[in-house]
Amino acid sequence: MSGGRPVPAIAPLRIGQGLDVHPFAPAGERPLVLGGVVVPGAPGLVGHSDADVIAHALADALLGAVGLGDIGHHFPADQPEWAGADSTDLLARVVAMVGDARWQPVNAQCTVVCERPKLAGHLPAMVDRLSAVVGAPVAVTAKRAEGLGALGRVEGIACLAVVLLAAEPARDPAAAEPDPVAVEPDPAAAEPELTAGELA
Ligand SMILES: [Zn+2]
Repeated sequence: MSGGRPVPAIAPLRIGQGLDVHPFAPAGERPLVLGGVVVPGAPGLVGHSDADVIAHALADALLGAVGLGDIGHHFPADQPEWAGADSTDLLARVVAMVGDARWQPVNAQCTVVCERPKLAGHLPAMVDRLSAVVGAPVAVTAKRAEGLGALGRVEGIACLAVVLLAAEPARDPAAAEPDPVAVEPDPAAAEPELTAGELA
């Protein structure tokens, strides 16, 4: 075989995927948090943090794209520091790690597999919250498992995520060093109540 087309010169890109699953906790034990949004009237999920399965899948996709492992590696479940953690805070820390590696999110999509409760009315709030934390458009869609398997029996919720990253432009060594605060935001300073309107 010959005559293959040359590969076009494009900006360096990376793709990452994430998958997470959490079982339901007994009713009334803890709130259901998905995509940074509390979904009322449904049992929460079991987990060391707030068990936000969407934020976790998205964080794993981001880390995987740049070869930084997964959130279990960075935020171990045996560390009290992360007990009950707000997973959008963990996600913000992951976004900062990706930025430190000089990659920036282009967009992401999360597909949450949830038999019950119905999530359609909550998806716009999740999109706003996750997009604000990631700093790029994050789409969230919800699918039922059609009664099949553990997810269909409403034993838990799963989420798949895919993310695209673009390399940040190389720094010009001759140029003045930019303000490090401006290019490497302190994840500890990330405001949990960021809104989409605050995005650059
Ligand atoms: Zn998780």
